[in-house]
Amino acid sequence: MDRRTKAGQVVVQYSSPQQIEAAVDALVAVPTLLIALDFDGTLAPEVDEPLDARALPSAHVQLLRMLELTDTRLALISGRALDSLEHVAHLPGHALFGGSHGLEYRLDDGDSELPMSEKNAAELLKLDALAHELADTTEGAWVELKPAGRALHVRLSSPDDAQRLMATAVARAEAELPGLTVRFGKNVVEFSIHSATKGDAIERLRNYVGADAIFFAGDDTTDEDAIAALGPNDVGVRVGDAPSGAQLRVAGTAEIAELLKLVTDRREAVVSTRAS
Ligand SMILES: [Mg+2]
Repeated sequence: MDRRTKAGQVVVQYSSPQQIEAAVDALVAVPTLLIALDFDGTLAPEVDEPLDARALPSAHVQLLRMLELTDTRLALISGRALDSLEHVAHLPGHALFGGSHGLEYRLDDGDSELPMSEKNAAELLKLDALAHELADTTEGAWVELKPAGRALHVRLSSPDDAQRLMATAVARAEAELPGLTVRFGKNVVEFSIHSATKGDAIERLRNYVGADAIFFAGDDTTDEDAIAALGPNDVGVRVGDAPSGAQLRVAGTAEIAELLKLVTDRREAVVSTRAS
């Protein structure tokens, strides 16, 4: 957990190897464990073309090992649409997926249907027109189609243009489509006609798996909803330097890959002892 100075400034500290080991050892001892991970910026370095993103090989190999462990489930929870998440994840069928910030799921019995009323569908059309109109005003900006919304990406725009476009987009959306859910990420603002969060995804997957504890890691503002949904037996990890309520903090994707190896090694030791 981050400390605050007397002036209220947050002091960012990466977790020590001792802190990490203590948290992991307590976590892996539970009967049923859920490992739930954000994808972009956590497992996979950020790339310009979203469908080209891949988990670091050192992380991917740990995900494959986790999927072989008894009483252990692996889930990816992402702001990506479910199809996009499944495409970039490259994981076998028994991985679990929560897409669109907890709106869509692929569990063992297949994909969930996204609830969409006539009013939702009409709003989505209006949002689509607005997002494209705004993106056309700014060099480098583009619109990502989401099942329940649209995301405006500004990673390839100049910082000034990006800031101006995001502010304009929020003001226009509030005026013309009140009640949309607005989420800010790194170089992206997303407007959604539903209000699910990654916290909802944590709760749904906790119940689905019957997890006694959850390990969660994420790198972005929306991941804080998941971290806030964790309980005292769970372990939350924030990747990077931004303020967080997470118990542990690491620097980047390479460090997450190392941490996943530790979790997998220790969990493997626990479940193999239990089986024998
Ligand atoms: Mg991320």
